[in-house]
Amino acid sequence: MDTRKEMELWFEEKHEDFFATKIRIDNVLYSKRSDFQHVEVVETKGFGRMLLNDGIIMVCERDEFIYHEMIAHVPLFVHPNPKNVLVIGGGDGGTVREVLKHKNVKKCVLVEIDPLVLEASRKFLKQTSLKLDDPKVEVLTMDGNKYVNETNQVFDIVIIDSTDPFGPSVPLFGEEFYRNVHRILSEDGIVVSQFESPFYSSEFQKKMYDTLGSIFKLVRVYNYHNMTYTSGLWSFAFSSKKLHPVKNLKKDMMKDIKLKYYNLDLHEASFKLPQFMLENLESLE
Ligand code: SAM
Repeated sequence: MDTRKEMELWFEEKHEDFFATKIRIDNVLYSKRSDFQHVEVVETKGFGRMLLNDGIIMVCERDEFIYHEMIAHVPLFVHPNPKNVLVIGGGDGGTVREVLKHKNVKKCVLVEIDPLVLEASRKFLKQTSLKLDDPKVEVLTMDGNKYVNETNQVFDIVIIDSTDPFGPSVPLFGEEFYRNVHRILSEDGIVVSQFESPFYSSEFQKKMYDTLGSIFKLVRVYNYHNMTYTSGLWSFAFSSKKLHPVKNLKKDMMKDIKLKYYNLDLHEASFKLPQFMLENLESLE
């Protein structure tokens, strides 16, 4: 009998009812239940620390740069002068960290519903949360849906960095929410949304794409790779009042910002979609 094996601790994220992602963990650093979800931070053997909400991987230190660079820099390198940015969800702080790399951003409001996500991230995920207390950042602990419904502030860019569409994040995928986002965006405003996996959530993508298309003048979808989210291939939706994600790309602005995944060629390429996605979304050109 291999006694060493019995001591090993493994985390398993089940998908549908037919497969799972399994990752070896060294120990559990944080585990508390909030009004919304079970929040955990675990130390893994090969992926650094991971934030889990209800047993689903939110952030993993080893590959989070991909998600956070792609959700933030794509709109920030398109908008001509993004001064005010709103992030909904994203309590780990990774998106805010990337937003603040753009010097013209004067203010970034983060609206995270769950105080425990903020607490866990501030304590155990310094890699992502390090800019949450920057003077340019305002952190609000409240429902992002309520916030966009009530605020009269205007934003150049809104980033929806939410969990998958169940539980408290469900309203963040609805038509009413996006009508409010449209209302609080400046005239050349952009919203980028967490858009799930084209492989496992094609129906969701189609429905959401149509919803966004009924509200915004321009909607495009772009892809990125992720090593620890189901399927590896994931998407964001880019919706705007007028700016085009490729034609309006500010090619001369990148020189001062050093990144690990994003670059200008990749920005353009990420909007080129596989055939099965084009057919599902009925062509985006
Ligand atoms: N990168 C992640 C992913 O795609 O799985 C998202 C990570 S981020 C931690 C997502 C956050 O959205 C969670 O911490 C969750 O608490 C927050 N959230 C969910 N519903 C929300 C709502 N209605 N308003 C504000 N934040 C919400």
